[in-house]
Amino acid sequence: MNREPQSEAIAASNYWQKTSLDAQKPRQRIDEIFGLDAFDMRTMRQRLPKSVFKSVEEVMGGGSKLSQDDAEVIATAMKDWAIERGVTHFTHWFQPMTGLTAEKHDSLTVPDGEGGLVYRLSGNSLIQGEPDASSFPSGGLRATFEARGYTAWDVTSPAFIVRGSNYATLCIPSAFVSWNGEALDKKTPLLRSIDAISTQAMRILKVFGTDEGVNSVGSTLGAEQEYFLIDRNLYHARPDLVSCDRTLFGSMPPKHQQLDDHYFGSIPTRVLSFMAEVERELARLGIPVQTRHNEVAPGQYEIAPLFETTNLACDHQAMLMQTLKSVAGRFGFAAILHEKPFAGVNGSGKHNNWSMSTDTGVNLLDPQDEAHNNLQFMVFLCGVIRAVHKHADLLRACISSATNDHRLGANEAPPAIISIFLGDMLTDLIEQIEKGSTSRTLKGGRLDLGARTLPEIKRDSGDRNRTSPFAFIGNRFEFRAVGSTASVAWPNTVINTIVAESLDYLATQIEKSIKKSTTPAQKDASIRKILSDVIKDHKAIVFNGDNYTEEWQAEAEARGLPNLKTTPDTIPALNNRQTASMFKKYKVLSNSELDSRAEIFATKYVTTIGIESRQMLSIARTLILPAAIEHQRRVANAVVSTESAGVDASGLRESLELISDGVHALEQKIAALDEVFSFTQLEPLEACYHIRDHVLSAMDELRAAADFLETRVDQNLWPLPSYSQLLTMR
Ligand code: ADP
Ligand code: MG
Repeated sequence: MNREPQSEAIAASNYWQKTSLDAQKPRQRIDEIFGLDAFDMRTMRQRLPKSVFKSVEEVMGGGSKLSQDDAEVIATAMKDWAIERGVTHFTHWFQPMTGLTAEKHDSLTVPDGEGGLVYRLSGNSLIQGEPDASSFPSGGLRATFEARGYTAWDVTSPAFIVRGSNYATLCIPSAFVSWNGEALDKKTPLLRSIDAISTQAMRILKVFGTDEGVNSVGSTLGAEQEYFLIDRNLYHARPDLVSCDRTLFGSMPPKHQQLDDHYFGSIPTRVLSFMAEVERELARLGIPVQTRHNEVAPGQYEIAPLFETTNLACDHQAMLMQTLKSVAGRFGFAAILHEKPFAGVNGSGKHNNWSMSTDTGVNLLDPQDEAHNNLQFMVFLCGVIRAVHKHADLLRACISSATNDHRLGANEAPPAIISIFLGDMLTDLIEQIEKGSTSRTLKGGRLDLGARTLPEIKRDSGDRNRTSPFAFIGNRFEFRAVGSTASVAWPNTVINTIVAESLDYLATQIEKSIKKSTTPAQKDASIRKILSDVIKDHKAIVFNGDNYTEEWQAEAEARGLPNLKTTPDTIPALNNRQTASMFKKYKVLSNSELDSRAEIFATKYVTTIGIESRQMLSIARTLILPAAIEHQRRVANAVVSTESAGVDASGLRESLELISDGVHALEQKIAALDEVFSFTQLEPLEACYHIRDHVLSAMDELRAAADFLETRVDQNLWPLPSYSQLLTMR
């Protein structure tokens, strides 16, 4: 069936790809207001000779590789464009397995042979770089002495300029691989997974004859980002925030989010100025931003970009996080992206809105009005359901981290059990699919608001479910368990690959069965039979109820769904045989590339907790304990002087005992954490389990002892800014 592409989907998915959007139409482009710091399609069209631009388009479509001659022409055009904008240096910008971004600047100037300098960027420097790779985590992919690593230009993501008051650097998005071509970064596997999903999805389109004019299918991604803004001076007075991005101590203030008065509330002026500046900077970089609002916790906010093709969206996500951090300082803020900077109030996530779209802009997860007649949609839907069920453990593993562990399952974010929310309409549809025939699509109808002056509004066919980790939202899935600090490249590599595998399975089954069908009705029936079997086998993953309840934990267990509560529990799922053979089959990760990721993952967990416990011990010993002892001394003095004045001091004595017990408890808990803090010498995997079983509880107990003291010790003596101050000063 031929479907009308949706305008929003076109705008986003073709933002960078070969586009059917009429770029010639006169309209005011945002970059004409703010200026543009991205070497985007339009800039290339304007600046490159027609033939070279055409070959860029071909390379982007995956049709050919870039020739050396074309690379020279593009490099010169890019350099001219950049120096007009004050650029002096360039860098291949890549995403090593730290989850952060990396850059090494090279000057654009070379000697002209006559004592002066000229600007130059060669084709080679554009396409390829060779940074020393030895200090990036490789997870055993190479030894330190094998230092060579290569960066390779990713043509599909526009180069961009990062600027400050006296510098401007041209950043060239790149992949990063080792000397023997193994992926040392997050982008390379992501690009491979996009190829995998395209190949398999195209087979499904072919079955339905909807592949005409379509060159590729990609996934689309819109990642909503939650974050906190803290006054910069207070931030620097908290060593835990500075070194761990979260508070390791802090008692709850009387008022925090209980009144729900922050969520969607009016945005404080300083914050709004900050947001506007962030959006202006992102617009310059060609990153489209859609929404901004206050989040649940005081001091917490959200920014959501408009979705794009996944590779681009992942690069843009990384740039967005950096922009939040860098702009915050200018407004006297520190931006905190940690999943749980403050215990007891809402944490931050990154809602990963994911769908599949053709390069012509058709959203393949849009059920349309008559979903029950839309067999192609049902195939894609069943593909996702099967993938999530089959790889629930991997999906859980790909978003776990020491930082996200604080959030998952804490009744504010989805639990550690992966399930899918489909809503009424799709649940009804899959029940029909299971029975073998589909005859209706539930409709939401309209809502009459009761007042004559208010319009009648259209109601969706099902409500939202905020508690579900993987929820269908009208025309896409929202993976809500992703952490706010995470690079979205890895979770999306996983989603793309598991869905590619299921589409492969479905395409193979369907191609086989329709060979035997002679009429369209038979073909239809055989596809329905295949889908019915998929639903029977995989419907256990669908859960529309409240994911926060105890009952769900029990029911999920009965359904055989994994419940991997902490990061160490998820490690085996990362590189078990099923996962490894899938990644290998779709050429996303070789076994050694996957193993390296599992090792880096475990090491990062251990390192993070190592830094946190060291920091905790330091703050407890050198800041909190001295303050508490000083308070104790003052109370003790008060007891002595009161009694020597002949006045009853029994109340004061009680205070003294309380505080002295508290100090004693603190000393004990410091010693207890110190005792289990030996894991840094263990193998990463062993250390992970040691942390889970011994260290986390010791950290919690030390914190509880300190937080108790915070409620008793003279505020003028307390050495750290309080939660009240941190969360409300804006
Ligand atoms: P919510 O109500 O879920 O908080 P937001 O408006 O904050 O919604 O964010 C929704 C996100 O989903 C945006 O980033 C939006 O661009 C993205 N989105 C919309 N359609 C698609 C799609 N087809 N594929 C991927 N992401 C999408
Ligand atoms: Mg959302």
